[in-house]
Amino acid sequence: MRDWVWQCRRAGERVGVVPTMGALHQGHLSLVEAARSKCDRVVATIFVNPTQFAPHEDFSRYPRTWESDLAGLARVGTDAVFAPRPEQMYPAGFSTYIDPPRVAEPWEGVCRPGHFRGVCTVVLKLFQIIPADVACFGAKDYQQALVIRTMVRDLDLGIEIDVRPTVREPDGLAMSSRNVYLSAPDRQRALSISRSLAGVVSAYRQGERQRERLEGLLRAGLEGSMDSIDYAVVVDGETLECRAEVDEGSVALVAAKVGTTRLIDNRKLGQSV
Ligand code: AMP
Repeated sequence: MRDWVWQCRRAGERVGVVPTMGALHQGHLSLVEAARSKCDRVVATIFVNPTQFAPHEDFSRYPRTWESDLAGLARVGTDAVFAPRPEQMYPAGFSTYIDPPRVAEPWEGVCRPGHFRGVCTVVLKLFQIIPADVACFGAKDYQQALVIRTMVRDLDLGIEIDVRPTVREPDGLAMSSRNVYLSAPDRQRALSISRSLAGVVSAYRQGERQRERLEGLLRAGLEGSMDSIDYAVVVDGETLECRAEVDEGSVALVAAKVGTTRLIDNRKLGQSV
């Protein structure tokens, strides 16, 4: 894989990489299309990374849809797919992990201890194996994108990180591989996440700048329909810290459970999509 990427780059081609865990949907494919539009070669990776799942999480039941993933990737024009087995990425004796940056600490960092350690470790390994010019990530995983950007800067990885907009279903639900877990009624209830986020964005547009009021709106929109809320906050878009007054760079972040399915979503306050 590494030799092939270097061959391409030595021949003057720009190489893009799109890391995924498979169970691909249009959100993933939009990242491949984005990479395609700015690169000569595109590599997609499919790897359900065991080190980013806690023992009680859904690693073993995470959807695996190899055939349709390959069909989707072929359709949007992918030059190579890197899909290692867990024992190839983590052979016996593997013991080196990345200590994630500070921005990994709040929110997902609190709810999923060790998650970003696994994410950073696997992404760094993927960047070593696939020394691309650019890597595309989705804004759907807002904190993850910030964590990766920070790791790339702090460790001088020399790869451009391109974060692309969240792709949604026509009714607003953010596309996610985990949406297949939702029963029809749960899927209806899940819509309150994107609706509440849209409500916060429109309150911001109408002039509301108080974080507590916006968070109140967000929670009010979620409380009736979610079984539990991990967090529903409006925070600084770079540091993810709370400030009394928000601005157009602030982001509303939600993680909540519908039944046993944990969903995350977010909206930047100053963005229309
Ligand atoms: P995953 O396979 O869920 O680990 O996601 C792989 C990449 O796809 C990550 O960069 C995600 O942020 C991105 N992604 C997942 N869902 C979406 C979506 N609905 N829109 C855009 N990107 C997404």
